[in-house]
Amino acid sequence: MRLVLLGPPGAGKGTQAGRLADRLTIPHISTGDILREHVERGSRLGVRARAYMDRGEYVPDDLVVRMVMDRLDEPDAQKGFILDGFPRTVLQAQALEDALAGAGRPLEAVLKFTIDADMAIKRLSNRWLCPCCKRTYNAEFMRPREDQLCDDDGCGLTRRSDDDEITVRRRLEVYRDETEPLELFYWERGLLREVNAQARLELVTERTMEALSDIAS
Ligand SMILES: [Zn+2]
Repeated sequence: MRLVLLGPPGAGKGTQAGRLADRLTIPHISTGDILREHVERGSRLGVRARAYMDRGEYVPDDLVVRMVMDRLDEPDAQKGFILDGFPRTVLQAQALEDALAGAGRPLEAVLKFTIDADMAIKRLSNRWLCPCCKRTYNAEFMRPREDQLCDDDGCGLTRRSDDDEITVRRRLEVYRDETEPLELFYWERGLLREVNAQARLELVTERTMEALSDIAS
């Protein structure tokens, strides 16, 4: 299954992406990770991306699309993929659509996780971050086994400094303004499917599987 995930901060998109990848046995592809990996490895694309980053500029869409397409060529992505963190704009969506069409692998669905502002704030303000591996925890929904310590590496958890209420509300507004055109783009193509993410992790995963039931193979 070929999917793109959209969702505001606090909707649990990253967590759901991981769970969905397990259920569907397709890779969860975070574009942030791909970019970092190319830069660290010093690949041809990574070196070009690095030049933009060093100048404090955005990495151009065509470069990111090429990295994504590169990743989708790998054996584990032949059955499908879950793209997370890209596209963010209509221009990027268009570039991705063209590249996927060229490869004969068009998207099958775009999942939009929805959550109301109050719940997002509640979730984000309870959020703890592992500074070592970047895993996030939640005081209410996803506690570490030992208080304040990362399950994976035992690092002391820290609070995200930008998670206070006003900042969270602003992040949600910025997200909505930026993503509305993107949602319209996918809605016009009949790809957009909404999932109410205002529930326990397990239930949201079930809702997601249900939303995909007609194309699950
Ligand atoms: Zn950790």
